[in-house]
Amino acid sequence: MTRASLLLLPLALGIGFTGATHRSFFGSRPHLARHSADASGSLGHEIESAFDRVPGPEDARVAARRKIEESESTTYIAEILAEHDSSVARWPDRRTQPLTVWVQPASGIADFNKIYVEQVRQAFEEWDRLQLPVHFTFVNDSADADVHVNWVDRFSEPISGRTRWTRDDDWLITDANILLALHHIGGERLDYDAMHAIALHEIGHLLGLDHTQDTLSIMAPRVRVRELSNVDTATVRLIYALPAGPLR
Ligand SMILES: [Zn+2]
Repeated sequence: MTRASLLLLPLALGIGFTGATHRSFFGSRPHLARHSADASGSLGHEIESAFDRVPGPEDARVAARRKIEESESTTYIAEILAEHDSSVARWPDRRTQPLTVWVQPASGIADFNKIYVEQVRQAFEEWDRLQLPVHFTFVNDSADADVHVNWVDRFSEPISGRTRWTRDDDWLITDANILLALHHIGGERLDYDAMHAIALHEIGHLLGLDHTQDTLSIMAPRVRVRELSNVDTATVRLIYALPAGPLR
């Protein structure tokens, strides 16, 4: 800690702090972390940069909670956290190592058509255009894939897709698989636009999103729209700006 940074401290703290508080700041790093958690707005950030220290996990949670507060009105992050025990599940940053995706290229299921495969690939590409820290690349061999998309005839409940992912103890998603049905439960074939929309929805789950009551979002439980909304993109961007794990 330099003399210059010490001199910055009173400015960063503002005039409301007492001498006792100052002493606790100089005492130990845990105190500092706790106090920066109490600081609001940009104050906390200035305190941190004044000390030029390595941020710890608690700092990350404080920063994350601040980001969430700022984004609550423009995203459905609150609904996701309510479903996920106040925790964020997401893939680790993989900017240089895309997730490998295998889409089952053929099927003997009635009404199967390669156009469905194309619709799913386009859905992955749409999410990819958001330039998240997670990218997708398609592979021809399922053994090489992190993500598998398989076709089923229909589900025994009124759904058209299902995504299962697993995560590690750090809430980082490690693999995911998507099932897509060619038929509604009553036997009617999904049209290509509907398949595209369901694929967008399931890939949203794969990325760590959950349902929202916003019916104009692709992540509504019953998908009514056919494309990603601004709220969808803002929410997934927020998730990938947050650390994985509990935020309480
Ligand atoms: Zn869903």
